[in-house]
Amino acid sequence: SGNLYIVATPIGNMADISLRAIETLNQVDLIAAEDTRHSQKLLQHHQIQTRLISVHEHNEAKRASHLISQLKQGMNIALISDAGTPLISDPGYNLVNLCRAEGLNVVPIPGACAAITALCAAGLATDRFRFDGFLPVKMLAREQALTVLQQETATVVFYEAPRRVLDTIKLVQQVLGDERQLVLAKELTKTFENFISGRAQDVIDWLQADEVHQKGEFVLMIAGAQIDASQIPPEAIALLKQLKEELP
Ligand code: SAM
Repeated sequence: SGNLYIVATPIGNMADISLRAIETLNQVDLIAAEDTRHSQKLLQHHQIQTRLISVHEHNEAKRASHLISQLKQGMNIALISDAGTPLISDPGYNLVNLCRAEGLNVVPIPGACAAITALCAAGLATDRFRFDGFLPVKMLAREQALTVLQQETATVVFYEAPRRVLDTIKLVQQVLGDERQLVLAKELTKTFENFISGRAQDVIDWLQADEVHQKGEFVLMIAGAQIDASQIPPEAIALLKQLKEELP
């Protein structure tokens, strides 16, 4: 049977695509893309003539079984999304899950991913991080998703749509307070790439300073909660003191 290649494409700067990705897109029999018109531009840019078909959120489950049968017939297929790494807040999970269940070969071709790109230059702790994708759209669910983070000590990474970014940061301020450091990464790898960092209020002020500040693509990062000694149970502290006395 053939291979399913999960191919990362650029998140802005067209040069951010690997040699192996280009080679793979050239050699496969079929490219399954989220938006074929959008991906056509990337393929044209690299003079790739491979046939495209659409696999998006709404037809993925149906298309998956069709693609599985083509893989079984020996076809090699590449999956790409509009930007970055497929399956990361993008379609593909059903397909990859099915391939694995059927014992078909899935080959990742790594490259750009907005979350990792943002994190590596933000200046926040990277030893432990949590990726939460897009917050739910409904208000109550949004609030709940943020409330859970009150105890989260790892850096948290979110994707956010431009029309919601200001409201989201206001909600972060409301739910998590104004102590946490935030970093908003905007337009990564593009001409107007920018990292805005500070407390929620600083980021809110920046977004409100100019209308164009709220346009573009955003990754929001929130520093993990500092564990406050007053939250440690007294028994645990007593035990630690006792242990310390026993140590040489
Ligand atoms: N699969 C993609 C990846 O690997 O990052 C993410 C796809 S998701 C549908 C799109 C979201 O990713 C945007 O709303 C934005 O939050 C983030 N994003 C994508 N490109 C970006 C960029 N150049 N700068 C900042 N954020 C970006």
